[in-house]
Amino acid sequence: MQIGIDIGGSHIAVGVISKRHTIIAKREKDIKRLEVNQDIKEYIIENIKMLINQVLKDIGAPSCVISKIGIAVPGKVKNKVVYDIYNLGIKEFNLAQVLEEHYGVTVSIRNDAKCAALAEKNIGNTQEYDDTVFLCLGTGIGGATFINGKMLEYTKDWGSEYGHMIIEKDGIECKCGNRGCFEKYASMQSFRNRIIELLNLEENITSKEILEIITRKVNEKDKLVNSYIDEYIDNLLIGLSNIINIIQPEAICIGGSFVYYEKILYTRLIEKINSKKYNCNIPKIVLAKLGNEAGMIGALM
Ligand SMILES: [Zn+2]
Repeated sequence: MQIGIDIGGSHIAVGVISKRHTIIAKREKDIKRLEVNQDIKEYIIENIKMLINQVLKDIGAPSCVISKIGIAVPGKVKNKVVYDIYNLGIKEFNLAQVLEEHYGVTVSIRNDAKCAALAEKNIGNTQEYDDTVFLCLGTGIGGATFINGKMLEYTKDWGSEYGHMIIEKDGIECKCGNRGCFEKYASMQSFRNRIIELLNLEENITSKEILEIITRKVNEKDKLVNSYIDEYIDNLLIGLSNIINIIQPEAICIGGSFVYYEKILYTRLIEKINSKKYNCNIPKIVLAKLGNEAGMIGALM
């Protein structure tokens, strides 16, 4: 029995995954604000163990039936150790080793965008392409690159850090220490923040409410919103153009919360990209097929 774990910036999800990559049972928990003396790593480990117990109970199985565990994390992974989970304030975490010792099974761990990319490549919308780039537009921009059907995996580092490609000289400051990084202009977090600022919305507004408001504004041909969406797409296209010219992929798959804004953003992106010139064929730009569960499914691939 395989267990897939997805650790997000604000929640933990654990699923029992079949050999055919379907979810048999799933449990989730929000990561709450911790007490002053509470350790975030201990908190995550305890909650993973609890969620694993729950999903196994849901299907009536004992913990000794676990054959493999896969974890998707929003950080950089090197030799099975996770670094820089910025949203949870974690610098270094040997989570895979802790779970290996506890359950006595092999635990694989990968960056969440790379897990989602593997899921898209194996059972999603990039199955038919050999050379592809996957971009996860969410809090930041995560990425993965496939050449000849294989995901690029590095000996020493993590690779495919497209989010930190610089697209503006002396631009907005990024948490990586540089300025003008792609993700400061084209991540969905940047998009959301800018919309909230432009329209003077509440900080805690839901994505659904934002989508409703901007859809209405676009239909009303609101100048402010439309010109910002154009600016957003132009910035996204700078990053995509760099990727297209360097990697020359057959397809680029975009995942993350960008997918929810398909009608507003994807349509405009396709119109604009088809009017561009590149040193190669314009790749197909496809949206991710697998939603929130791509991470935990891909973690076992
Ligand atoms: Zn950066």
